[in-house]
Amino acid sequence: LPEVFTAAMPVLEKLEAAGYEAYFVGGCVRDLLIKRPIHDVDIATSAYPEEVKQTFAKSIDTGIQHGTVTVLYGGGSYEITTFRTESGYQDFRRPDKVTFVQNLDEDLKRRDFTINALAMNRQGEIVDLFDGLGDLDRHLIKAVGNAEERFHEDALRMMRAVRFMSQLSFQLEGKTRQAIVANHELLSKISVERIREEFVKLALGPDSRRAFREFLDTGLSEECPGLKGQKARLAIFPDLKAGPDEEAVFWSLIVIMLNLPVGQIAAFMREWKNSNAMSQQVKKIVAAFDLLSQRAASDFDLFAIGRENLQAALKIADLLGQPLPGRSLQDRYERLPIKQSSELTIDGQWLIRQGIKPSPALGQLLRRALTGVVEGKVDNDPDAIAAFLQI
Ligand code: ATP
Ligand code: MG
Repeated sequence: LPEVFTAAMPVLEKLEAAGYEAYFVGGCVRDLLIKRPIHDVDIATSAYPEEVKQTFAKSIDTGIQHGTVTVLYGGGSYEITTFRTESGYQDFRRPDKVTFVQNLDEDLKRRDFTINALAMNRQGEIVDLFDGLGDLDRHLIKAVGNAEERFHEDALRMMRAVRFMSQLSFQLEGKTRQAIVANHELLSKISVERIREEFVKLALGPDSRRAFREFLDTGLSEECPGLKGQKARLAIFPDLKAGPDEEAVFWSLIVIMLNLPVGQIAAFMREWKNSNAMSQQVKKIVAAFDLLSQRAASDFDLFAIGRENLQAALKIADLLGQPLPGRSLQDRYERLPIKQSSELTIDGQWLIRQGIKPSPALGQLLRRALTGVVEGKVDNDPDAIAAFLQI
């Protein structure tokens, strides 16, 4: 058993010793069975949140109204959730009411897919009410119960289905897929933040190209910000040389596939509720990609692009199968005399001390000095720069 489980065993033991039932549940059991790396374990218990808190010395009320308490124990932190059912799904979104229940079966029924509805006790025995084990063997993502009903309860599950396809390299089970095709419009009821989270996980999974194909073919993409009517443009994604391995590269690829003008990138990124930082980064990567695709980059271009954006732009060109002389551009970048403006040995104050008046002309001199040094026309040395600028 992986260390994350053995480390968590005493937590189950403590709950059982206090008279409650406790199981590992959900993604961690699934990942254990298919030997995927496990980041954290989730625990389900018959104990009420208050009872969980009384059982452990240190806890945090992470989502107590939903029944989740985070327990700090033996150097680890564990999300412990009381067995619950969900009801009152309004507007195809998350439930507005959770009801605590006394048995695990009820709790497993509310879960999205059969492979996510597995539980394991301390003895390593698996509870599998919906043949999740069979679906793990068959590599299938199949809704628990009636797929249509489950997607009406919470439409995000449709995005989760394609996200797990990508992460696990599984297929959508027939009825589950049909239900997504028939109900994809419901995704528009879901908050963009929740969709984005699944979308990015899809994009960065090992089988993202195939999952993205389903994202397009099932109609889900039509319900996403800025992607409506763009299926033809986005259809390049499944043909990429490989999937993106970084979020900024992914968004840049989307922007490039959509052929968005520079002026529309920020609005698109905002529609997706991306951070400003992510939006800025994508703008720079796309600008770099455009420049490198259009003309031979000067040393100053490479300097202005910077190492990280250069690598991202070259990665994108490679994924798109657009050959750019990547190695030589990177070598050229590494050989630049300076990589940051701050490395220049002179600055505005220095120019003023040489008798230059604060003025636009001063800015131009500074810029000439920077370009001269970056392009190797003058050494990065004040005397040499003074001679170069003829001041
Ligand atoms: P990951 O590796 O991304 O954490 P996970 O399967 O643990 O995968 P989570 O989003 O962490 O996914 O959810 C934990 C568990 O909670 C799932 O395995 C599933 O049983 C249940 N679950 C999560 N979201 C939903 C949902 N929208 N509808 C029903 N069950 C859900
Ligand atoms: Mg999880």
